Amino acid sequence: MALLITDDCINCAVCEPECPNEAIYEGEEIYEIDVNLCTECVGHYDEPQCVMICPVDCIPKDPDHEENADELMQKYKKLTGKIS
Ligand code: SF4
Ligand code: SF4
Repeated sequence: MALLITDDCINCAVCEPECPNEAIYEGEEIYEIDVNLCTECVGHYDEPQCVMICPVDCIPKDPDHEENADELMQKYKKLTGKIS
C-alpha cells in the first residue's frame, strides 16, 4: 500500500530527499506522495524512510491504495526497469 501524508504535515521538507523512488513532492499546501511511485520503500530499504524521518509522524498507510508485499515488490521492479 502506498503511504499518505496527512494535513499534520509542517512542510519541513526533510522527507523529500529521503525517498528512493522520488515519490514525494511539494503539493499546493503540504507535501504529497505519488501513489504510483511509492513502494513503501520495498526493494530499497526495510523501513519506509519518510516515516522514519518525519518529525510529526504524519505519514500513515493510504487505505485507498492497498498493496501487499508481493505487489510492492512488483511495483519496485517495474519502476527500476527490472521487469517491463
Ligand atoms: Fe518514498 Fe518510501 Fe516514503 Fe514511499 S515509503 S514515499 S517510497 S520514502
Ligand atoms: Fe511533512 Fe513529515 Fe515530510 Fe516534513 S517530513 S514535509 S512534516 S511529511
